[in-house]
Amino acid sequence: MKVTIHKGSREIGGNCIQVSSGKTTILLDVGLPLSTDSRPVDVSHMAVDAVLVSHGHRDHFGLMGSLLPCTPVYIGKLARSLIDATRVFLGEERYALNFHEFSAWKPFTIGEFTITPYLVDHSAADAYAFFIEAEGKHLFYSGDLRSHGRKGILFENLVKRPIRDIDVLFLEGTMMHRNNDLFPDETAVESAIFQTIQEQKNISFLLSSSQNIDRIVSAYRACKRAHKFLVIDIYTAWVLEQVQMVSSSSPCLDRKEIRVYAKGSQYEKLKANPEYFGDFSKRLFRRRVIPGELRETPEAFLYFGKMSSFDFIDQFKNAAAPVNVIYSQWLGYLDGNHPEYFGSDRIAAYRMAPDINFVYAHTSGHAPVDDLQRLAKALNPRKLVPIHTEHGEDFSKIFANVVTLNDGEVSALA
Ligand SMILES: [Zn+2]
Repeated sequence: MKVTIHKGSREIGGNCIQVSSGKTTILLDVGLPLSTDSRPVDVSHMAVDAVLVSHGHRDHFGLMGSLLPCTPVYIGKLARSLIDATRVFLGEERYALNFHEFSAWKPFTIGEFTITPYLVDHSAADAYAFFIEAEGKHLFYSGDLRSHGRKGILFENLVKRPIRDIDVLFLEGTMMHRNNDLFPDETAVESAIFQTIQEQKNISFLLSSSQNIDRIVSAYRACKRAHKFLVIDIYTAWVLEQVQMVSSSSPCLDRKEIRVYAKGSQYEKLKANPEYFGDFSKRLFRRRVIPGELRETPEAFLYFGKMSSFDFIDQFKNAAAPVNVIYSQWLGYLDGNHPEYFGSDRIAAYRMAPDINFVYAHTSGHAPVDDLQRLAKALNPRKLVPIHTEHGEDFSKIFANVVTLNDGEVSALA
């Protein structure tokens, strides 16, 4: 097996790994780099036999639109639906690619490769690691994963019943110099949300990603316990609708604690795509909350929104009863170096605002170092290659059998 990391050996995001065996070549992820300083890989001329997309985060699938249209793209069904949802709400065409679905733990073949997708716990739903076999050699690509979300059991299963005889492990190292100590798991986040909203005198805002399903579930569960309503926008409601295809127990429009705040621009998207949305608009209407309701009894609501919600937050400012702003994403976005996240400067300023009670409640989508060590020990690979990390040079201090590759380097690893 020949391996080339096109991108991701020295940075978080932009993953793109080429693996070849005999006449077959596949790509693992086609990610858009997160850093604007990093040049995306040019995949537009790569004639590969297939692309495997581990999950629906842009730093793993964002170059999909540049692929040759005939390229077979293998991706989880829900992950694909969630990518579609985002594109429809952004007013972009859905990808018209040669898509193939796979199922968790069901092997499939592409030329000389046999691939088994392993469902993993991550902040994106429907995320996978891939076990890849060819020429009697075994490669495992972690994708992005962790043990401390609502699907942590998947990680523990990998540790308890590890795949044997792994030649090469591509292991993500996002958290090499970060820790997750403040909120070690999703339950801790849920508790912080509950503590914040249970006695609130004004509305609370939770700022997170609508694609972080674990976080929406945490918000929903906290609201249920505190007897509050969870207010979501149309896009988030549609995301939850997609999740029903894999988990009918996850919160959706039918739950009485969920209300929808119908923003005009999102409502336009419903009207413009009636076939895509089906009867969703009708059902949505029944769960609508109007601005007057929010203003009259703000203490009854938790609003799940994005960083760009600051204008809406400002409408509820009240010196006698501060608005709770629960910041539920990576704190690094507020350090002043991320103008691409619209609103991050305004949200950062809330930390000092007297009429805002700023609360941080977030757990990472990625495994901290001690979990990565447990996984690496269990899988016991002959070679462990750092990926999705800014600190590949430190891997050899904490893992055995580390082989560091550079972007673009062709290597016969297995
Ligand atoms: Zn990810």
